[in-house]
Amino acid sequence: MNEQLSISIPGDLLPSDGRFGSGPSRVAPDAVRALADTGTSFLGTSHRRPTVQSVVGRIREGLSALYDLPDGYEVVLGVGGATAFWDAAAFSLIEKRSAHFACGEFSSKFAAAAGRAPHLDEPVIIEAPPGSAPEPRAVEGTDASAFIHNETSTGVLAGFRRFGEELVLVDGTSAAGAIAVDASEFDAYYFSPQKALGSEGGLWIALMSPEATERAERLEATRRVPRFLSIATAIDNSRLHQTYNTPALATLWFLSARIDALASDGGLPTAQSVSEASSRHCYLWAEASAFAAPFVAEDRFRSPTVVTVDIDDEIAASEVSRHLRENGIVDIDGYRKLGRNQLRIATFPTIPTADVEALTACIDFVVGAIAP
Ligand SMILES: *Cc1c(COP(=O)(O)O)cnc(C)c1O
Repeated sequence: MNEQLSISIPGDLLPSDGRFGSGPSRVAPDAVRALADTGTSFLGTSHRRPTVQSVVGRIREGLSALYDLPDGYEVVLGVGGATAFWDAAAFSLIEKRSAHFACGEFSSKFAAAAGRAPHLDEPVIIEAPPGSAPEPRAVEGTDASAFIHNETSTGVLAGFRRFGEELVLVDGTSAAGAIAVDASEFDAYYFSPQKALGSEGGLWIALMSPEATERAERLEATRRVPRFLSIATAIDNSRLHQTYNTPALATLWFLSARIDALASDGGLPTAQSVSEASSRHCYLWAEASAFAAPFVAEDRFRSPTVVTVDIDDEIAASEVSRHLRENGIVDIDGYRKLGRNQLRIATFPTIPTADVEALTACIDFVVGAIAP
């Protein structure tokens, strides 16, 4: 096969925007322009002044409304993304021992983070093979259960449930802003904003129950918590519409713009219906394809927001994605560590279904050209 072969996809097949990555994902060009239009009045100003605090306030109120948070629930923000939240949770939310329902890279990483916390007992890890998710269950002797709503590495939608007094911690990173959830089912629903919410990275946001807030405050008083990892400190700052240390203002801006857009366009149910339509298209396309098949076999585990597609061995998925990249369609390579001949397509609500349809037509075009 000629590695230098260059394929030009006809313009009328191309999507309106070539970004299909699962994170970072599309930031809306309108929001970028609106940020540019603020000129000297927003970027480069203090995050402890009303100009920026009002944006944080809109984010907090917007998320409370979007998720219909019950009284006493709070929206808490901190710097460092979901990865920092794992370490923060190990200090501020897990009392002695946690249970982790792991089914891929991200859910496993939180388990590993808890395993490295010197003050905690060895976590219990309940695993399921990639492409599925473990059934939630009560785990004796644990005070927190860690679930993932959507495993971004494998494209799996997972379940979570409360069984008793344990705190239910849910990684909603590639689900937040796209899949509706009932707040009574979690104590902390946390996420980074550069996935389904189409913002930039570097921030974590947690929707927290009164029980989670109480736990963070109690642990703060009874153990040495590094300040940066202190959720009690993050709560205090969030109540003032601030973060403990300096956040990226662009991230706040894009997040706030996206939350406003969701609010004015039907909220989570409408967003979810876009993701469902786009992902359904991908699964049907892959099932009908001569060279592709959905990686996630069981329907109930198929993610509405991240679709993983196995490609026949005769065709290198990496070559397909290389040709697409040359045509401006980027970031649909499979998750590196999963190591499969696979494509991974974000079907976040920020990506119109028409673009996803154009994408699969472009994949067909490229495969037709390289494997006649
Ligand atoms: C991307 C991702 C993370 C890590 O987010 P960072 O912002 O890089 O820390 C954690 N969990 C899930 C489910 C993700 O998709």
